[in-house]
Amino acid sequence: MSKQMPIAHPFDDDKLREECGVFGVVGLKDAANFVALGLHALQHRGQEAGGIVCHHPEHGFNNARRFGYVRDNFTKESLMSTLPGPLAIGHVRYSTAGSKGQTAIRDVQPFFGEFSMGGAAIAHNGNITNADSLRRELIERGSIFQSSSDSECIIHLMARSLQRTIPERMEDALRRVEGAFSVVAMTRTKLIGVRDPLGVRPLVLGKLAEGWVLSSETCALDIIGAEFIREIKPGEMVVITAENGVESHFPFRPQPSKFCIFEHVYFSRPDSSYGGRSVYETRRQIGVELARENPVDADLVCAVPDSGTPAAIGYSQESGIPFAMGIVRNQYMGRTFIEPTEQIRNMGVRLKLNVNRALIEGKRVILVDDSVVRGTTSRKIKEMILDAGAKEVHFRIASPPTAWPCFYGVDTPEREKLLAATMNEDQMAEHLAVDSLKFISLDGLYRAVGEPEGRNKKCPQYCDACFSGEYPVRPADMIAKGFELKAAE
Ligand code: SF4
Repeated sequence: MSKQMPIAHPFDDDKLREECGVFGVVGLKDAANFVALGLHALQHRGQEAGGIVCHHPEHGFNNARRFGYVRDNFTKESLMSTLPGPLAIGHVRYSTAGSKGQTAIRDVQPFFGEFSMGGAAIAHNGNITNADSLRRELIERGSIFQSSSDSECIIHLMARSLQRTIPERMEDALRRVEGAFSVVAMTRTKLIGVRDPLGVRPLVLGKLAEGWVLSSETCALDIIGAEFIREIKPGEMVVITAENGVESHFPFRPQPSKFCIFEHVYFSRPDSSYGGRSVYETRRQIGVELARENPVDADLVCAVPDSGTPAAIGYSQESGIPFAMGIVRNQYMGRTFIEPTEQIRNMGVRLKLNVNRALIEGKRVILVDDSVVRGTTSRKIKEMILDAGAKEVHFRIASPPTAWPCFYGVDTPEREKLLAATMNEDQMAEHLAVDSLKFISLDGLYRAVGEPEGRNKKCPQYCDACFSGEYPVRPADMIAKGFELKAAE
């Protein structure tokens, strides 16, 4: 059978999806092997395609970009022997701006550019909110784009910079870029990491033997046995060489940090950590807050697996209502090689989730899920629970209503398709035909992520635009296309 691009499962259509993960290594023999392992650990951030660029003092730069899972593409037999050298970076992608849903191989990162002072490759997690105008300007001035990706703008801006070194050119380029970016880049000798001034997307630094590692999440450091050193700070650039270690500076105007609060709720793996706190513990605490804010009499607390599980455990612990695995997820049915025929589409959620009838029958069930996006999956899950004989179904959601799209590197439907954009909580409960539906409040979510006073309304401590409609970076391209910001209160 020929190798195919993984096909999104119908279940995945009703989730927000992180669009990229980045990973880089310097100072380790066969760095690309470590990068492949790191990307494998970051596969939840993007399953559509992945790529690796490496450099070897004798063989120069090499790269491989492929559709599909890291584990299928970057094996020793197939590719690793062609990716030698002590310096490598990699990227996994869902699809960012550009060819959404129909990625071409030319859109797969890392992107590479040959400059007068040598080559450089970049891998970008995030989304450039002024990419349309930058691209137009660059094309008018003679740039020839190879892809439809917003991230390629960075390479062209670097090419036009008059600075002498590649890190300086990258600084120059990124000062023109608006939006969210965690970039891992490399030259012949340097591994470079940069976070945008607001630090919207994560990036962490690790150490393994004589080598250094940059990664979107700490879970990918664990897989290669690297020690977590620290998070790259918002607005920080690190330039790392095997000889001199890490040099850090802050090339952008300092701004209050706006890390994506949804990384805590859903995107990151529960075995990653931010700010010294495990994502699992934060999610469990979200469940605790959810139970305090929205109690209900019931017999069982069940999770919509897997992402709702830590919050369901927290809800159960706080409420004293027993936790049970009322829904079981088929671990091998994430994305599938099966063609999505009409008949298979109709099976929908049942392909991925199955109700444990013996536990559910005759019970009043609290179902904890991480979010409600379009509401289509919630409705199907509710039907499955009722079909299994539940007496009542109460949804408890571990995030506030998602009423606004994300423009910072997360795939969200248009605003009109978000259930919470057109309905309030009661209307959503009626629409889903559940006995009750309650979301955690924004303040409750902030408390759960470690802000005891809740959300600072004047200057929120996180980006929470998909809940609040308050965008920390003006989404210039989308406004030009007619997107209307929330009216000032
Ligand atoms: S809009 Fe939502 S998903 Fe996007 S960066 Fe902000 S908090 Fe994260």
